[in-house]
Amino acid sequence: MGILVKGCAVSLDTLNTKVPTGDSRPLAKDFEMRENNNGVTSKTGRKDRQRSQAESPLDEAIPPMLNIENVQHNYGDVQALRGVSLTAAKGEFLTILGESGSGKTTLLRIISGLEQPTAVDRIEIDGVDVAQLPAAQRNCTTVFQNYALFPHMSVRENVEYGLSVRGIGSDERERRALEALDLVRLDGKSERGIGQLSGGERQRVALARALVTQPAILLLDEPLGALDEKLRQQMQEELVVLHRQLGMTFIYITHSQEEALTMSDRIVLMSQGQIVQAGTPETLFDRPNSQFSADFMGFENILTGTLQSFKEPYAEVSLGGKSVKGVWTGKTLPEIGQAILVAFRSERVKIGDSIDTSKACNTLPCTAGDRLYRGKYVDQTAETEFGPVRARIWDRSQQLSDFKQISWRFDDCVVLT
Ligand code: ADP
Ligand code: MG
Repeated sequence: MGILVKGCAVSLDTLNTKVPTGDSRPLAKDFEMRENNNGVTSKTGRKDRQRSQAESPLDEAIPPMLNIENVQHNYGDVQALRGVSLTAAKGEFLTILGESGSGKTTLLRIISGLEQPTAVDRIEIDGVDVAQLPAAQRNCTTVFQNYALFPHMSVRENVEYGLSVRGIGSDERERRALEALDLVRLDGKSERGIGQLSGGERQRVALARALVTQPAILLLDEPLGALDEKLRQQMQEELVVLHRQLGMTFIYITHSQEEALTMSDRIVLMSQGQIVQAGTPETLFDRPNSQFSADFMGFENILTGTLQSFKEPYAEVSLGGKSVKGVWTGKTLPEIGQAILVAFRSERVKIGDSIDTSKACNTLPCTAGDRLYRGKYVDQTAETEFGPVRARIWDRSQQLSDFKQISWRFDDCVVLT
């Protein structure tokens, strides 16, 4: 069955209909319950968020909210997913990060049941095998980038929609819709038409419509992609707060590393239909384990050398005659003497001759190269024997001309293949 929304056919499945669950607990009450349980039985709230960043993302004692094993999906000749396995803990904010075409949407559509995978070993939501269940019977809801709202309905009617298809009575529908609108700070606008809302407000309606059904998992496919930068940042913060309040499992798709780093408990980085690295934002940001991850996560400096020695956790690399040290993060250590990469971020590079070399840091001689003024900071290039190294300088009082040396700490340097 299909309905025309904004000139395109949308199946009822995409509008997140589900079988009635009979669960009519107020969202806010649910929130109080989770906040008060001290983080023992649910991985929610700031406390758990910090814990899950420090430790393993999955607590063995709690069954995962989502478990997918070895999913493959082809569109004709295109291999969109090539053996992806993924788990999400209860209450986790999990972000799937990757460039356009890496398979993120396909993975989300397979989780929600909108796409039937070419092959999969297992898909479980909250312990239930859903591989054969249609979208309407999976306990998850999707928020789309293009909102997919009904233009002819009011804000409240849009939010009530998912409840009315489940046969929930009008009084309860209205109460729950107003509560969901309150959560997304749209309570004063419930009787407006969709056309009378800004882009940010429409996205909030789409969010309220997804939340009102209290799914076990909220799936968000680049939901902030159409918003301008300022609004996007504001909505990022609001989503984090909302996630904390509700304790729901969020699976969030984005191609923006900054968005992933800001919001997530854990990030899964995808490339060409495969997961290339998964870990906390800190791990992805500071400890990429491949050249692809380092590149994607914005390591401006990647130099090639040869492996000189290895003593956990540091690998020593020879750059010409010069030796530098960094934390080994790669997957398989090459032989001594083989080619290896040294990667470090421009904001961790210090320039100048007054560097305290007694600290555990690498130094390289250089000459000052190009400089790019960027307002908040300056991007300064240092020309070394091994090619240009970029340094990001935030300190306006820093002398930028005529320096002859750069340095960066061993711990701010990764070595990988
Ligand atoms: P992402 O969401 O990361 O941008 P997608 O999951 O949409 O990636 O797409 C993964 C790959 O599958 C891409 O190469 C894309 O072109 C292809 N693809 C996606 N949907 C279809 C489709 N309906 N038909 C054919 N190819 C598709
Ligand atoms: Mg996509």
